Amino acid sequence: MALIFHSKIKRDDWWREVLGKVLPGMEVRFYPEIGNPDDIEYALCFAMPHGVLSQFKNLKGIFSLGAGVDHFFADPDFPKHLPFARVVDDELTARMSEYVLQHVLNHHRYQADFDLQQKDHVWKERFPPAARNRKVGILGLGALGQGAAERLKYLEFDVAGWSRSPKEIEGVTCYHGADQLDEFLARTEILVCLLPLTEETTGIINKDLLAKLPEGAAVINPGRGPHVVPEDLMTAIDSGHISSATLDVFIQEPLPENDPLWDHPKIRITPHVASVAAPERVAALTAENIKRIENGEDPLNKVDPERGY
Ligand code: NAP
Repeated sequence: MALIFHSKIKRDDWWREVLGKVLPGMEVRFYPEIGNPDDIEYALCFAMPHGVLSQFKNLKGIFSLGAGVDHFFADPDFPKHLPFARVVDDELTARMSEYVLQHVLNHHRYQADFDLQQKDHVWKERFPPAARNRKVGILGLGALGQGAAERLKYLEFDVAGWSRSPKEIEGVTCYHGADQLDEFLARTEILVCLLPLTEETTGIINKDLLAKLPEGAAVINPGRGPHVVPEDLMTAIDSGHISSATLDVFIQEPLPENDPLWDHPKIRITPHVASVAAPERVAALTAENIKRIENGEDPLNKVDPERGY
């Protein structure tokens, strides 16, 4: 029995040790060293080159190394019929919540303006409203969106969220579906995108959506790069309608050196670091899911290939 592993970040020895502890009978092979493809029964990976997974005719289950799965569905040969699971993990959620809190607070307290003022030695006060009077809106109320909403509520922000299906979350104003998006946007002063990347959500943060946010709104995107149309965002900021933005993810990663986003004075950039799952947690989840699949059960955190997330 063998598991094929692939990650964008090369730490093969570390993963070998961590996976060895929870899967003692499993041979772990690191792509591109596949060996005999017929030995491969499980895959644990992120951004596996397209066409590779479909080569393994004895594959029984596929596990994403992270919460997002868009890179799997971008592979035209992805074997959609197999059990496929992603990571849902308290620690990953907590890290994402930290990122959201950090950047909501920056926008709430006008930190981008103060950074610019500091460059010019300008002393000009501006006080934010009380958090309870600041409306934060989260696109996506899944594991990460709900986690962030909980922490924002704790700081007394006025939190709303938007999802595909209806939700009832205490202390969060919930909107759902295309029909309720405009109402959600009209009340959102700080927009946080925690949607999965699907056909429906690609390019969702475009000029039409940005125009529906109130004057001076800020945008934070730790979802996926293609959620945002960068030219539309920069135009909306340059026009003064959007005050500022924080972006963690990009259409092309790493963000090319000559990309205009780098130098925009009102855009803060982080290099896809909003959250990550710890190897020990992913390894434990993988072991549990292999046990479940071997017992004929569904894996935990199963992805629905029809929905695409
Ligand atoms: P999740 O649990 O699957 O939640 C997704 C949420 O988005 C759900 O509330 C879902 O609605 C909603 N949604 C999906 N399609 C929609 C649509 N067309 N219209 C309205 N709402 C829609 O995902 P998650 O675990 O919270 O993760 C969210 C994303 O965060 C991941 O897919 C990944 O891309 C990103 N991420 C980024 C980082 C980073 O470091 N930057 C790290 C981890 C994850 P329903 O509840 O109705 O299904």
